[in-house]
Amino acid sequence: MSVARRSVALLGATGSIGIQTLDVLRREPEAFNLVAVAGGSRLVELAEIVKEFNVKMVGVAHDGDRAAMRALVSSDVEVVTGPSGLAELAGRAEIVVNAVMGFAGLPVTMATLEAGGRLCLANKESLIAAAPLVQRVRFTPGATLLPIDSEHCAIHQCLAGSSTSPGHRDVAALWLTASGGPFRGWSSSQLANATLADALQHPTWTMGPKITIDSSTLMNKGLEVLEASALFGIEATRIKVVVHPQSVVHSMVEYVDGSVLAQLSRPDMRLPIAYCLGLPDRLSHAWGKMDFTSAMDLSFEPPDRVAFPALDLAYRAADRAGAAPAWLSAANEVAVAACLDGSLAWSEIIPLVATVMDSYVDDPLDSLEALMENDAAARRVASGILKLSS
Ligand code: NAD
Ligand code: MG
Repeated sequence: MSVARRSVALLGATGSIGIQTLDVLRREPEAFNLVAVAGGSRLVELAEIVKEFNVKMVGVAHDGDRAAMRALVSSDVEVVTGPSGLAELAGRAEIVVNAVMGFAGLPVTMATLEAGGRLCLANKESLIAAAPLVQRVRFTPGATLLPIDSEHCAIHQCLAGSSTSPGHRDVAALWLTASGGPFRGWSSSQLANATLADALQHPTWTMGPKITIDSSTLMNKGLEVLEASALFGIEATRIKVVVHPQSVVHSMVEYVDGSVLAQLSRPDMRLPIAYCLGLPDRLSHAWGKMDFTSAMDLSFEPPDRVAFPALDLAYRAADRAGAAPAWLSAANEVAVAACLDGSLAWSEIIPLVATVMDSYVDDPLDSLEALMENDAAARRVASGILKLSS
């Protein structure tokens, strides 16, 4: 007896996570049916995906791209645009993969949970910025929030044996592992001269440009502390970071009795993607399979919090809560975009974020309007500083 295929919407289909999700879907044609895709650019690639998977709905970021997409796909394909288009597509599938980059992923996160769907979340920025609002919609009947981010997916697996006691009282700490990025071991004075090209050389993962820069500043790990706190309902003081250069142990849960559970694989994002798509079943292709027949060293060291102040900025934002994480993430997006387009030195990214945070006035973040205002305000402050320094 064949089981009905589950419908999937893949939003951010042309990016790093999007392309790897397509790889998983190609392996599992009996299990999943891709019904909707969206992308922000690369319209030709997006149209090729529509054709290959016979997708019936496609979203593009800008109204101005609608006609171009219409011309690339067959006439029975529905084309939607902008944030409202993303939200509409998110409501049309049982499983939604949010692989959009940055705050632009917010409509996908909110609409999927509001519609009671399964949200497979790579887009950490939306959860971090909207954490208090996500808490209100994530318990919509049928809604499930599953992390694709490899550290959080590891913790999700290691927590499976935990009691369901509120606040995970049997958990002493969540240990997020960090590769350390391309600048592990660099001193503050060496980092002052780091270039964009240096920052784009990640030692263990191939990812989109924004998260690659975030990994080089350790802001990615800072954002992941906020992400873990929001996902698992554990305060940031119980979330720790340890540098593990091999990227084999994807994260760990330390229980109050001293027992530590870890999840291991070779670094391959298709494993966490497949885990989130397949749950409660394990899909049988072994992405990132380990080879224990040859020698292997796994090492751990504490992060250098002086050379990489992004971590402390994130803990401070977690402590202030409300809209502070939204400010942190928005300021960082502006700074990273400026670094990527060559208008801000790598060494100025985190100082810029820190200066923006000095302007933050506590806001409890009790509505979507308040979130949009805070996001815009943080971007205004960041852009103002950029203009002054250019
Ligand atoms: P990417 O830049 O490679 O891809 C981003 C995708 O989002 C592209 O398809 C782009 O066209 C689309 N997009 C951007 N703005 C859009 C908009 N307004 N409307 C519709 N689509 C839009 O980024 P990535 O590396 O795949 O990362 C995506 C998300 O996953 C990020 O939040 C990142 O932090 C997270 N993540 C990525 C990895 C990784 O290995 N790449 C690992 C963990 C988490
Ligand atoms: Mg990660």
